[in-house]
Amino acid sequence: MKVSLRVRAGFAAGGAVSNVAKRFVKAIVLFGSPGSGKGTQAKLLTDCLGIPHVSTGEMLRDGIRQGRGVTPKTAAKMQAGILVKDAVVDAMVEERLSRPDAANGFVLDGYPRTLVQAEHLTGWLAERGIHEVVIHLAVDYNIIIARLTGRRECPRCGTLYNVVLRPPKVDELCDLDGEKLVRRDDDREDVIRARLEAYDRQTRPVLDFLRSNGGRVIEVDASNDPPEAVFQKIGRAMEN
Ligand code: ADP
Repeated sequence: MKVSLRVRAGFAAGGAVSNVAKRFVKAIVLFGSPGSGKGTQAKLLTDCLGIPHVSTGEMLRDGIRQGRGVTPKTAAKMQAGILVKDAVVDAMVEERLSRPDAANGFVLDGYPRTLVQAEHLTGWLAERGIHEVVIHLAVDYNIIIARLTGRRECPRCGTLYNVVLRPPKVDELCDLDGEKLVRRDDDREDVIRARLEAYDRQTRPVLDFLRSNGGRVIEVDASNDPPEAVFQKIGRAMEN
């Protein structure tokens, strides 16, 4: 991905995430509302640190696409913007984190999203002596709405666009491979409202839980800066 290469260069020049950070950071939890840019930052971080990106939303969508492991009831919840059962995601994440490629670390995106999940994760990490670093991407509500309603994705390469904020060069087509862009099923206005409501009610309290549990929480203002600049901020904060 173009963006990641540019940021990599930035890291080399600015030393945003040094070898020290690479050695010590084992578990990164990207926290923030839908549309806060967790997926984009997760990709940049995983490229840079060489650890896997563990996105529960992506894993669930993959399961639906491949017709395995996701029940129709779970798929319906996702379509409606409602959180799926804790036991489903807890088991999925635990299995994923147990694979060899996650032994040196991982970036969690979209998990934990409830207090039950947070307790499950922190228990799992504590048993292994792993300390999590939580990165909270804070974004203004109005910007979140603009990002989510205008978001389009390339179904082939996954590049994200926004019809207003970051349009493709040719209407509706991916700049990189010319594929017709699509809107995610749950990026419709009524579903966006449900997702934001779920975030406020069920997910927001998780941040305080993680803080009080002793996890390190890095606050990043991610409202106005482009992804590369947000990434640099994360790198600098992790250095400290
Ligand atoms: P976003 O953060 O933009 O809402 P995600 O891709 O993270 O998107 O999640 C999409 C949907 O997948 C959620 O609305 C929810 O239904 C389901 N989901 C993802 N992660 C979790 C989770 N940790 N707990 C419960 N449901 C989840």
